[in-house]
Amino acid sequence: MDRKVLITTPYREKGERYEYWSSNVDRKITYTYDKNNSNGLRFLKKNIPEIDILEWPTWTEYRKALKKDYDVVGFSFFTHEIPNILEMVKEAKKKNDPELWAGNYGALTYGMEDHFDKIFVGYSEEEVAEELGTEIGTLKHPMIVDYIGTRIGVKGFPLGVLFTNRGCTQNCKFCQTPVFCSDPYKIPLSSIEEAVKNYKESGVTEIVIEDENFGMWKKHTEKVIDILHKHDISWYPMTRIDLLDNNLEDWYEKGFSGTLIGVESLNQDTLDNVEKNIDVEKTLDLLERLEEKNSFVIGYYMIGFEEDTVPKIKKDIRKLNDYSIDLTQICVITPLPRTPLWEEISEKYGIIEDDWGKWDTKHLVWDHPNIDQKEMRKVLGWGFRKAYSPLKFIRSPIKYYFRRKNRFGYIKTQMKMLKDFIISNRGVKTELGEGQI
Ligand code: SF4
Repeated sequence: MDRKVLITTPYREKGERYEYWSSNVDRKITYTYDKNNSNGLRFLKKNIPEIDILEWPTWTEYRKALKKDYDVVGFSFFTHEIPNILEMVKEAKKKNDPELWAGNYGALTYGMEDHFDKIFVGYSEEEVAEELGTEIGTLKHPMIVDYIGTRIGVKGFPLGVLFTNRGCTQNCKFCQTPVFCSDPYKIPLSSIEEAVKNYKESGVTEIVIEDENFGMWKKHTEKVIDILHKHDISWYPMTRIDLLDNNLEDWYEKGFSGTLIGVESLNQDTLDNVEKNIDVEKTLDLLERLEEKNSFVIGYYMIGFEEDTVPKIKKDIRKLNDYSIDLTQICVITPLPRTPLWEEISEKYGIIEDDWGKWDTKHLVWDHPNIDQKEMRKVLGWGFRKAYSPLKFIRSPIKYYFRRKNRFGYIKTQMKMLKDFIISNRGVKTELGEGQI
């Protein structure tokens, strides 16, 4: 490889970190879920070690890195991060005018071709390698470790991140995944097993599977589950209601401990309208079955559909709150670029927000027939409080304790909790370390 390449995420202010829990909950007392690794960049670095990566550098760190006179500077970003990225692009041009690349979901945004020399669509290890005149062979899976902890800084346990497939075979109208990765594929089992072994050896025994749609290939899924079970891993997949509904009992026997799942709406017509292909009654029944098993649940929920009104949103969130969802991620429905929803909404109602920084699914960006931007912010804030009752703070660790005890028994559970505590507060060493590489 004869070109020097830097790939970076957007910069952040000094000391600023992304914490998932407080980004979705308006309560003083919550847990923390620190997510400060860039999955995409970790995969790139693992498969093309010659490139340099920067994960959320400060502005000063970014400027310092540019002094190395890279031939190529690439940016990995989401739509709402565009304002920061364009500042970084301007800065890069002032230096030695490198070739500029864009990747990740934000690169799908209209107009990006005006700012970058090359746009990579989808997971691009192979394409980047090819561009640099090299090959990656079998895709390797990096170690990526996040932590669940408390607001006073004490961590509870580490969570390894695993991907078993990429893309999705569904076509929900609001989702960019079918465009981002139009040809879904499996991560090789050998790479998955290698990653699981590395986690286990480092003492990480809880793994969150961040597939867009875990379980969409039956045979591959069964083999992945066997690997996880063999290594005694507790796992939490991001999956669909229908898949989990069909498999919950079998998966539970093999270490399933919870899920990240798209509830999206409690209104069947709304779900049908966005072609989500799930059944509300089935969802509610599944939430009850998950509770019986003390499963941890992150529920994705959307507000601001065409037919929504503020009272209706409030009524549904109150209803949702009757179920044992540990953390509800409430988003405002957003017609993201290149989705069928963009076409539909922009034509029928019109886009009213031209600041990409507000396209973070926490702002209303189109001309809603019943709710204005200010009202949407207000009802979203209300939902952030309402959907996380103080009781949840107590219920989550109780569920955690009982699902472990039911699986491993009393003594082993105590030992594991102590070990997790020590490991997470000491920090898990990954092959790439944390932050700047
Ligand atoms: S199932 Fe999930 S990932 Fe697949 S298209 Fe629908 S929203 Fe996107």
